[in-house]
This record gives sequence, C-alpha cells and structure tokens, in this order.
Amino acid sequence: MKYVDEYRGEAEAKRFLELLRRKVTRPWTLMEICGGQTHTFMKFGLDRMLPEQVTLVHGPGCPVCVTPVEMIDRAVAIARRPEVIFTSFGDMLRVPGTGDDLLRVKASGGDVRVVYSPLDAVELARKHPDRQVVFFAVGFETTAPANAMAVRVAKLSGVANFSVLCSHVLVPPAMEAILSAPGNVVQGFLAAGHVCTVMGFEEYEPIAEKYRIPIVVTGFEPLDLLEGVYRVVVALEEGRHGVENQYARTVQREGNRHAIETVHEVFEVGDRAWRGVGFIPASGYKLRPAYAAFDAVTRFDVESVRADENAECIAGLILQGRKKPPECSAFGTRCTPDHPLGAPMVSTEGACSAYFSYARARS
Ligand code: SF4
Repeated sequence: MKYVDEYRGEAEAKRFLELLRRKVTRPWTLMEICGGQTHTFMKFGLDRMLPEQVTLVHGPGCPVCVTPVEMIDRAVAIARRPEVIFTSFGDMLRVPGTGDDLLRVKASGGDVRVVYSPLDAVELARKHPDRQVVFFAVGFETTAPANAMAVRVAKLSGVANFSVLCSHVLVPPAMEAILSAPGNVVQGFLAAGHVCTVMGFEEYEPIAEKYRIPIVVTGFEPLDLLEGVYRVVVALEEGRHGVENQYARTVQREGNRHAIETVHEVFEVGDRAWRGVGFIPASGYKLRPAYAAFDAVTRFDVESVRADENAECIAGLILQGRKKPPECSAFGTRCTPDHPLGAPMVSTEGACSAYFSYARARS
C-alpha cells in the first residue's frame, strides 16, 4: 500500500531502535501531544520496544477529552429544544455530561445528528429554514479552518438559522501550562504533525527557547514516531533545544497561510477551560464580534450552565502526563468503553481507550 507501508517497515523500525539504544545514556521523559500518536504507540506496541530509559507520557491532544463537562451540558440543553437540529462529529455523542449525554438526548427524541463536515450542518440549515441548526465546533487548530469556513459560508449566504457551539482549544498554551506547572516531568515533546500542517511551527520556537526543550514535529505512522523519539533523545543527550521537523512531507514552518487566514477572519484568541486541566488564558478560539450572531451560547442563552467534573475521573492528570490510565482506580472496572466515566475512555483519540483496547489485546 503506497504511502503507508513506507512508514511501517520492520527493518527501518529496528534500525531506529538500535540507533536509539546506542544513543541513550540516562532516563528521559517525553510527551507525545496528540491522542492519535498515543494510539499508534499502543497499537503497534512501540511503547514496549523503546529502551527502558525512555518514558512516554501522553498529552492533552484529544479534542473530545479536553472539551469541558459544562460544554457537554450546554450541548445537551440546546439539543433538547424542539426547534433544534443538533449536529456533531460522532465521538462527542457519548461523552458524559453531569447528567445526560447527547446520545441519550437522541434516544429520548432529540434531533441529534452526526455529520462529517460542518458544511453539512450549514446545508441542513438551508434545507430546514424553520429549524435552528447547531454545530458542536470542538477541536484543536486542525478542525478550526473547516469550522471557520462553515460560519463564513453561512454568513455570506444568509443562512441565519445556523450557529456553532464553539469549544476550540490551542496547543501552544497547553504546552506552556504543562511545562510551567510545578512538578512537570516532560523533558521533550513530539508535536502533532496535523496541527502543524495547518499552523506551522513558528509558534513553538519561543516555547523551545524559553523552556530550553527539544520539540520535534512528528507524524502518526510507526516510523514517524520512532524517528521523532530518536530525534528528541539525540537533542536531549547532546544538550540541544529547539524545534525540528520530522514531518517535512506535510509540514512547512509557516503552515497553511490560506487556512490560517480563514481561521483568523472568523475566530479570535480567547480564554478557555480545559476538561480536567482547568482554565488556561488565551488557549482557545471564540467568534469575532463580526460573527457573534452565530454563537449558539448567546442564541440559546446557555452561558449560565456551569458544571463540576466527575471527581473520580483523573483525566486531567492523564492529559498532563502526570499519571497513566491504569493508575486510575476506575480503569477497566467502573470505567470501560461501554460504560465510560470520562472522555478519555470514549474518544478514539483518548489515552484511556488506547490502553484499554491495545493493552487488553496484548494480554
Ligand atoms: S479510566 Fe475512566 S475515569 Fe479513569 S481517567 Fe480514564 S476516563 Fe477518567
């Protein structure tokens, strides 16, 4: 299979592992930011192939996992309204709120629909002018361009019965929050290649400089990740910091200017709460005043909906690399993919679901 097999070759993987074994002289703790990377590590057993001096911890890069519980409660409150068609990517439907989740709202008669693009939601609004169509706009910098485009298209084409429940988050402020937290253990990052495909990696350079840390922009296939780990370890062993680009087949330093311009036309940076992590200043996108009419929070007056997180779920510690999923007392017992207590067990990018699925398959 062209363009996949090239990044899964066993001989090349062994070569990187051997180079890594020769280079590493002492313990290092690395964080892969993206949940997709976590799943590749677990699925291919790469975590067990690394030298014992290299510890991987898992980062906050799972959009479903970091969406605050109060946003789920707001989504549920909006989706219950009879005039609303609530649209979302499928992963969000099973994420627990404090009471219901969106799937239960659907089961009890709410018009909740899975879409594959926010533009599909705009199209639904066009077809149903007598209804209100809301799209749950979650995610990192990767989903922001399409969501911005949907809002822009709705405005330009006069689709006034469309709005977005916006819960966008940004990677660089989360990295800084992790690095500046007391007791931080992360010494190097594998940055998420798809985020950098959109945004480039200029934003990471001041972080690498300030915290004197190596950051390697890395893809998602096994060889991408092994090379990423190798490059971070080489930099650490040689006392170097800075940003390197392992994913050069896709990522350019300045990113995708067209996508960035679309995002910046519709969104501006705002403060954001992260599920399990808490409030991080300037860590998300909100609609600019010119597009404020498309904000579902004000349209449906759900700003007052506030919620506390499930005290038993330690998702925040996992998303900051402080604990691993099996260290949660509910892991695999009270919390499973069929009966999740927290978002990391629901999402296809969640660390808890990765450990549950792949570690169980191994045993
Ligand atoms: S195992 Fe479940 S309860 Fe524990 S941290 Fe993961 S999602 Fe939360």
